[in-house]
Amino acid sequence: MSESRQIEVLQDKCVGCKLCVKACPFGAISMCERKAVIDYDKCTLCGSCVPVCKSEAVRQSAATAATKRQATGEVWVFCEIDPEAGRLAGVSVELLGLAQELAAALNVKVGALLAGCDLAGYGREAGAQGADRVYLIEHPDLEHYDDERYGTVISRLVTERKPEILLGGASAVGRALLPRIAIKVHTGLTADCTELDIDPTTGLLRQTRPAFGGNILATITCENHRPQMATVRPGVLRRKPADPARTGEIIACPPRAEELRSSLEWLDFRPRGKGDVDLREAEIIVAVGYGAGSPDGVRLVAELAQALGGALGASRSVVDAGWIEYPHQVGQTGTTVQPKLYVACGISGAIQHIVGMQNSETIVAINRDPDAPIFQYADYALVGDIADIVPELLRQIEGKS
Ligand SMILES: Cc1cc2nc3c(=O)[nH]c(=O)nc-3n(C[C@H](O)[C@H](O)[C@H](O)COP(=O)(O)OP(=O)(O)OC[C@H]3O[C@@H](n4cnc5c(N)ncnc54)[C@H](O)[C@@H]3O)c2cc1C
Repeated sequence: MSESRQIEVLQDKCVGCKLCVKACPFGAISMCERKAVIDYDKCTLCGSCVPVCKSEAVRQSAATAATKRQATGEVWVFCEIDPEAGRLAGVSVELLGLAQELAAALNVKVGALLAGCDLAGYGREAGAQGADRVYLIEHPDLEHYDDERYGTVISRLVTERKPEILLGGASAVGRALLPRIAIKVHTGLTADCTELDIDPTTGLLRQTRPAFGGNILATITCENHRPQMATVRPGVLRRKPADPARTGEIIACPPRAEELRSSLEWLDFRPRGKGDVDLREAEIIVAVGYGAGSPDGVRLVAELAQALGGALGASRSVVDAGWIEYPHQVGQTGTTVQPKLYVACGISGAIQHIVGMQNSETIVAINRDPDAPIFQYADYALVGDIADIVPELLRQIEGKS
């Protein structure tokens, strides 16, 4: 019996209808003496065969699902590289930290997937950040991210090695790559999760994300298909410190020639300009809300951001009003941030804004309404008018310098 066996055909119930053979996207089921037989080397555990069986001969019982969890095991993170910084992308580091917790709950290992070329240094970093195994998919043709090549080779690895969970960042790359893999391996994907944990009773990955415009949080599980896949936006999870003494087992996974075919053509790489907003990396953010009242009010708050040496954030209302550009927007449909200091000026504290900044270390809120919801999340509440408080703060900061 294959170690990954979890879907089985009860031979006495099988009527030989071949519905499961047709349903299997991987050609893993064939007929032998009018009974369905599973080829476990081809089976990806996707579960497509289970619901189509009318005689309930193909099943995935709780007991075998538990066996599967141990056998197929790993919690994988697709790790992105930040080529400008020469290190793993922040979101990948954040995910490796979370993967350690999930893997501990399942008693399995953490696997980091890295694709590109000259990956040794990144592999070491992944080990130091929590990966027990580092799968290096190295080839010169993978130097630049390519949906098709990355999608094909990673899908094959998933099929071969059957991780229990595959996570990635809800970044530009992750948003393109993970759905592609999910389709190829025939499983589900929960995008933009804000929380992931393991259900202690079922061992399933609980994937929580905002729904209905952020007004409710939905928790989703994927019972019958593997791997369980989710993306998390950068900045949502807290980074765990690296342990330089920690090393991961490096496993070379060279791509096959046919997996390097692509219809995409690499044109150019343009690094971010110096003046561009990068809220994710900012240690201090001063954010402006609709309470600023006008573009002049935004300029006043921008002065405070500058005086504190921080970046200027904004609520969506300010962006929608055309007072500031979208890259400044913090929140569910903007950037998720976790600076050391977040100063919210004239922001009401709608949940869609809160989900983007609630992990900030210290939150200061300025609002003239003492009942503004933002104060529930603030460490320091300054009740009053921006037009009075911000100039006073500027005076005090300038007095100090
Ligand atoms: C699907 C969806 C996604 C969304 N995504 C985002 C998102 O990513 N980010 C985001 O921010 N929002 C988002 N929103 C919008 C969100 O629901 C709120 O409408 C928005 O955050 C409100 O912005 P605000 O707090 O600046 O404005 P308001 O709600 O108008 O609040 C202004 C605040 O300023 C205070 N105020 C007024 N004048 C002054 C003054 N002179 N001095 C001091 N305080 C003053 C008021 O008391 C009030 O609390 C989203 C909404 C939806 C439906």
